[in-house]
Amino acid sequence: MRKFVYQFSEGSKEMKNLLGGKGANLAEMTNIGLPVPPGFIISTAACNDYTNSNKHLSEDIFEEVKIHLAELERQTGKIFGFKENPLLVSVRSGAPFSMPGMMDTVLNLGLNDATARGLASLTNDSRSALDSYRRFIQMFGDVVFEIPSYHFEQALTQIKKTNNYLLDTELTAEDLSELVATYKTIFTQATGQNFPQEPLEQLRLAIIAVFNSWMNPRAVIYRRLNNIDASFGTAVNIQAMVFGNTGETSGTGITFTRNPSTGEKAVFGEFLLNAQGEDVVAGIRTPEPIKALEKRMPIVYNELIKTCELLENHYLDMQDIEFTIEKEKLFILQTRSGKRTAKAAIQVAVDLVHEGKITKAEALIRVETKQLDQLLHPTFVESALKVGQVLATGLPASPGAATGQIYFTAKEAVQAAERGISVILVRNETSPEDIEGMAKSAAILTAHGGMTSHAAVVARGMGKCCIAGCSELIINEKEKTIILKNGTQLHEGEQISLDGTSGKVYLGEIELTEAAIGGHFDELMTWADEEKQLMIRVNADTPADFKKALLFGAEGIGLCRTEHMFFDEKRIPYVRQMILAESLAERESVLTTLKEMQKEDFTALFRIADGRAVNIRLLDPPLHEFLPNTNREIEQLASEMNRTVPQLTKRIHSLAETNPMLGHRGSRLAITFPEIYRMQAEAIIESAVIVHDEGIAVHPEIMIPLIATKSELKYIKKEIKHAIHSIFDKERVVLPYDIGTMIEIPRACVTADEIAEEAQFFSFGTNDLTQLTYGFSRDDAAKFLSDYYEKNILPNDPFVTIDKEGVGALVEMAVTRGRMTHANLKMGVCGEHGGDPESIRFFHQLGLSYVSCSPYRVPIARLAAAQASLHEKEMLTTV
Ligand code: PEP
Ligand code: MG
Repeated sequence: MRKFVYQFSEGSKEMKNLLGGKGANLAEMTNIGLPVPPGFIISTAACNDYTNSNKHLSEDIFEEVKIHLAELERQTGKIFGFKENPLLVSVRSGAPFSMPGMMDTVLNLGLNDATARGLASLTNDSRSALDSYRRFIQMFGDVVFEIPSYHFEQALTQIKKTNNYLLDTELTAEDLSELVATYKTIFTQATGQNFPQEPLEQLRLAIIAVFNSWMNPRAVIYRRLNNIDASFGTAVNIQAMVFGNTGETSGTGITFTRNPSTGEKAVFGEFLLNAQGEDVVAGIRTPEPIKALEKRMPIVYNELIKTCELLENHYLDMQDIEFTIEKEKLFILQTRSGKRTAKAAIQVAVDLVHEGKITKAEALIRVETKQLDQLLHPTFVESALKVGQVLATGLPASPGAATGQIYFTAKEAVQAAERGISVILVRNETSPEDIEGMAKSAAILTAHGGMTSHAAVVARGMGKCCIAGCSELIINEKEKTIILKNGTQLHEGEQISLDGTSGKVYLGEIELTEAAIGGHFDELMTWADEEKQLMIRVNADTPADFKKALLFGAEGIGLCRTEHMFFDEKRIPYVRQMILAESLAERESVLTTLKEMQKEDFTALFRIADGRAVNIRLLDPPLHEFLPNTNREIEQLASEMNRTVPQLTKRIHSLAETNPMLGHRGSRLAITFPEIYRMQAEAIIESAVIVHDEGIAVHPEIMIPLIATKSELKYIKKEIKHAIHSIFDKERVVLPYDIGTMIEIPRACVTADEIAEEAQFFSFGTNDLTQLTYGFSRDDAAKFLSDYYEKNILPNDPFVTIDKEGVGALVEMAVTRGRMTHANLKMGVCGEHGGDPESIRFFHQLGLSYVSCSPYRVPIARLAAAQASLHEKEMLTTV
């Protein structure tokens, strides 16, 4: 018979896919002798069996569960469902990849009226027993029967109010007994049945609920956001309960072996006395910092610190550890690699290398490329911050800065973000249902909860600024207001600013500034540069973008889109005149003006490049983006061009295209009007001569866009070469330069061997290549692609991650054919895919010389290129 259930002692950390991350680590910790309450794991294979058999939990699997339950009874000396000495268990989900808070947990399972009484007399503590029972009814009702928690919360609040209590811990045994009765009534009213008293039935229903939670909407969204495959399934961990809610010598907490916000090497965490499981994460009570445990229970504290060290050294990574203290005895309930900010990820990885625990290669692999994004984002301008009005201070839960309008529900946050608003999501506490709203918001502010609350953990994972536990604010989610300490109210849509590093909330908008990087970041990036084989260039059209990109480590310009240089308000009239000119003479006169402007641009870029590659693409304007639209624009242009309005309108209409993306753009424009590219080539070379004369090395790459045939390229090349050599003759100088082409049309890929006869380099324009290979419009595909993901027709956006089988195969064909003509042909990518880690891996495998991307993605590309190289080496050694 197939085995579906495993004792902790049968597993190990390597068995994550089968036992889930939580189960595998519980097994590992058991085997290294840590105080883990005993238990067993129902594997992910059982979850898949359940899903594949139409959501039926097979009798065979449940029989196997019973066998392991009997073993657990033997290990604990307690009996499941036996009122004298009842065994209680926790039932927790645990997927192969960590999905914090996304799936369900039931604690204290096995309690019923009889066992609750039995437990009370056994421990001589009816308060704790009843407290556990009421928690169980709520969790079971919520997880298994989907009874909204607020029904129970309302009853709890009511009884506290009646008795004038502030805290749950003030409830007496009598209060709790009353609360249990109320909870059971709530249960019956909601489900039409009595609360199940049979522990085995409770267990069966809880296992099914955890399996079902794998497919709940928030888990589905989380997996989509994090690219996790739905076919893994979740495991279920059944573990003997230990109780943190048995008085002031008990408690529960979470600790990180290093600071997950900053990466600092110091144990960091929180705990709550007399509390159970979810209390810390749910953020209902504000916990104490871990250091305070040293005073309260020094022996337990020292044991915890030792355990932190042991686990970190065992896993060789920063750990996130859950613990419970039951009457001064420490139990470890979970360890996992801790979620961390990008800053912390880098510092921890670099420090672990310095501590001799991991290699540089390991450090490079560990830092997630997509996380780097958050480091490179803005912070507040110091001076603006000084005069900013502080409204309140909360816990600095996730660093960064953001300014935006306040919204009080996840749904409204999503809607506002979709209208292009920068949103600050304001909640009392977040819950996993809020995940999409959090993802779409610029930052998150909560009134309750600590540094390990749901909001804090999820925000750090997303790299989002978050302030948690800002208890000075009264947040009224129903009225959609924030009430400040002085009584002032803020309403939905008002602007505030959050500093996630200091925890301060400011009124209004505060100016943001670029991120400051350095230190550990630079060190890691140096290691990346040593490892990577791809060069990383930048797509930049302005000196400012180019300078920023150099700070981020760009090694040159891979794409300067000259049409972007024409968008400038002062220039656009000339560009329009150039396009609308009716004679060569008229066009050439405008071109003379434009040439001077282009020379300013190019000289600036060549100076900044200081000898690095600069690839300038000749004009590729989709015509519709440049034609005048409004009557005013047409009137003004007509007067500038000495035309009548009807004359000009007629000309505009004659140029209008039904499908501009497939229209008179790119090299096609130059076939009709070669003087445009001649002017640009002259501007490039004259600028190169100027900068060369200043003693700065310069070697321009001139790139022709949208080439479909060798003959197009040959014609254009002849035109511009002629112009270039006239300059050399005139200036009595010869400078190196290359003329090459974009490869962005499928026909160019197929005939790349011929095209290479005329090209000194290829640069893959994977944006157009994707558009033309799929026949999806770049500008419109977003409207229907979501249907493709939902229906599993495409896994992701082919404009973001290269479609290896289709578009990628064309790139590969062009690479092979290009090399047939020129073995050393220089080849790179300048489409958006040049900044996407997964695509970068593919380009690395093709042996391209560089990828080019926007400035902010340069560090991501550097790291991704290093990871691609490391993965390749690993594949070579494991083959
Ligand atoms: C491309 O098509 O991939 C490209 C880089 O050019 P553009 O995006 O300017 O069309
Ligand atoms: Mg293109």
